[in-house]
Amino acid sequence: MFKCKKCQATEFQLVVQKNVQGEVQVATNEFNEVIVKVGDQEFIADLMFMNQFAVCKGCDGIKHWDYFFHDPVSAM
Ligand SMILES: [Zn+2]
Repeated sequence: MFKCKKCQATEFQLVVQKNVQGEVQVATNEFNEVIVKVGDQEFIADLMFMNQFAVCKGCDGIKHWDYFFHDPVSAM
């Protein structure tokens, strides 16, 4: 998952180019990684992808993303 450094939100919206074919879907896997599906293709979103295409739903910010994982050990 990713978290906005400005407002701490984890919700985002993908802004993809209009020439992208197929439906864009976002999901998370068992490791809390963000999976992006575009048509038949599927890949794990990394920080570079997020900062290029993801807009924060909290503050409309872009390029403020950082990795955010729930870690039960270090959360103590
Ligand atoms: Zn934000």
